[in-house]
Amino acid sequence: PKYTKAELHKIIDENDIKFLRLQFTDIFGILKNITVTTSKLDSVIEQGCMFDGSSIDGFARIEESDMMLIPDLDTFEIFPWSNPKGRTARFICDVYMPDGTPYDGCPRHILKRQLAKAKEMGYTMNVGPECEFFLFHKDEHNKATIETNDDGGYFDLAPLDMGGSARRDICLALEEMGFEIEASHHECAAGQHEIDFKYGDALKMADDVMTFKIVVKRIAQDHHRHATFMPKPIYGIAGSGMHINMSLCTEQGNAFCDKSDELGLSKEAYGFMAGILKHARGLSLLTNPIINSYKRLVPGFEAPCYIAWSAKNRSPLIRVPFARGAATRIEMRNPDPTANPYLAYAGALAAGLEGIRKGMTPPPPVNKNIYTLSEEEKKKHMIRRVPQNLFDAIGDFEEDGLMKEVLGEGAYEKYLKGKKHEWADYSTRVHEWELKHYLTKY
Ligand code: GLU
Ligand code: MG
Ligand code: MG
Repeated sequence: PKYTKAELHKIIDENDIKFLRLQFTDIFGILKNITVTTSKLDSVIEQGCMFDGSSIDGFARIEESDMMLIPDLDTFEIFPWSNPKGRTARFICDVYMPDGTPYDGCPRHILKRQLAKAKEMGYTMNVGPECEFFLFHKDEHNKATIETNDDGGYFDLAPLDMGGSARRDICLALEEMGFEIEASHHECAAGQHEIDFKYGDALKMADDVMTFKIVVKRIAQDHHRHATFMPKPIYGIAGSGMHINMSLCTEQGNAFCDKSDELGLSKEAYGFMAGILKHARGLSLLTNPIINSYKRLVPGFEAPCYIAWSAKNRSPLIRVPFARGAATRIEMRNPDPTANPYLAYAGALAAGLEGIRKGMTPPPPVNKNIYTLSEEEKKKHMIRRVPQNLFDAIGDFEEDGLMKEVLGEGAYEKYLKGKKHEWADYSTRVHEWELKHYLTKY
């Protein structure tokens, strides 16, 4: 581990840390915390921390209400914004049953299980997520709005980019928490930003995405802004994605590159890609889990709607970025930042591994802009669309047997139940659009 218990005691004393936040993620990708004082450090490390899981979404069966958090010591970080007189640090935890067995609804276990399968085949998985988000103003009652007061565009600089100083402070806070920031820039839409951090081991990157979101929200708040990871907050302008760059490594290095291939890609890279394309629809409920996710996956905003791949353009679901050697990777472009990163990576990995195991090959690349292809051309290339709404995604998820295998029976049932409820609730409401178009016309 990164730190021993003795080292942690020393860091805690030296930094005057008074509170420990024990963090974990529910199956719907929401970060939860339980805070203890640092006097509990030894007992938390040695015995874990018991909590009542019955009030937590996706943890909710009465008979399993007593659960235990076991901190992963490698995830210790100090919150840079905490009060210097009594600072707070955190651990990311795994959830266990009181008898010490892993809890089946813990997303970290689900990803670890998939990573172990990759390991059996000789692979480790690297992920590089690209998180986009909006910074919006708050009104005089401190409520989030969808106003930006920002006319910046892609890569624009201040003074047009009014969120720039918030973004800069976000980057600094992330660096204090151990992130290595690769790039940060204004995205296409007004008020939209992206911060990219260095790729790494899949489990760490899923943890980092969870941390990233709270840091962005917290620092935005200090700038009187509301940060949102909602995929499509405003109709008619770009939405926010969380593209995931993925590669597998063996002891010899990156397993996706092969200089002898025309595109410099290995059989593994093609197999992985083929597996993802095959399961893309079934995976959608993990990569694009909410009602609003599907309002982003429409033509014209650099978000993919079609299941295809290309090394040249950005309209298909998978793009192969130019870099080769150690940086050889595939970029899956449909995930959005509301995805539970543990489940999305586990699902994508399972699909990719199946493609490798079965020696699958992807269809030929589609290097044209798919948005502009006619229906006949799409048919000719057998290009399928991604699901168009949460309802279709639920159906595709249920039809894809691999998804149940990835999540495991318990988590699968809970996840599906939650998503069906979400759809039922939404689809029976009367929306603003309906009133506008029907109320006076009929
Ligand atoms: N915002 C676009 C999306 O929804 C992506 C833009 C880009 O290529 O970075 O995925
Ligand atoms: Mg981007
Ligand atoms: Mg990208």
